[in-house]
Amino acid sequence: MNILFLGAQGSGKGTQADILATKVGVPHVASGDLLRAAIAQNTSVGKQAKPYYDRGDLVPDSIMVEMFLERLDEVDAKKGALLDGFPRTLAQAEALDQALGRVGKAVDQVIYLKADPNVLVQRLANRYICQAHQHPYNIITNPPKKPGVCDLDGSTLYQRSDDTEEAVRRRLEIFFSETIKLLEYYREKGKVQEIDAEQPIAEVTAAIMRALSL
Ligand code: AMP
Repeated sequence: MNILFLGAQGSGKGTQADILATKVGVPHVASGDLLRAAIAQNTSVGKQAKPYYDRGDLVPDSIMVEMFLERLDEVDAKKGALLDGFPRTLAQAEALDQALGRVGKAVDQVIYLKADPNVLVQRLANRYICQAHQHPYNIITNPPKKPGVCDLDGSTLYQRSDDTEEAVRRRLEIFFSETIKLLEYYREKGKVQEIDAEQPIAEVTAAIMRALSL
């Protein structure tokens, strides 16, 4: 089962996909996490992607498609995956459909996590993630038990380099002008279910589980 989490930055895609991955038994695959790992390791892809990433711009489709499809080809994703952050453009969505179609698979369901942009800006300003596995926290609404330390793996929490005010504005602008087109793309295929992402985390999880009949 391939489930796509669609939503603007700060809508809770990563948080919900982490929770659901354990319940569904398929990996949470996040394009942003793949990029952050490539940038941290200073790979050739990481070096190419970094300037786009830091500005909050989209990394070119050619880089993203190859990187993401390679990850989906790994053995743990054979049964399916929770897709987070990819696709973000129509060209990526088409490339994904073609690649999955070739092996008799598809994006089965799309969960759209809907939230007001003002709520998203607030959430991003308070967001921290952990060094080891990028587990997300919010210092107001979802703080770690011990300040600055990940509950799950004990690693240090930090603020992302693209969670600056300017890059946040740019990323939200791109989401609501570009990535939002994917809603129509998947709606035409009858795959989209919309969830109110402004609710508390546990309620959003429950709504997603109902939507997916889990
Ligand atoms: P995220 O962690 O999903 O918010 O992604 C962080 C940044 O990585 C984005 O602002 C883009 O610069 C880049 N990025 C992640 N996924 C994609 C994608 N599918 N296409 C283009 N750029 C991406």
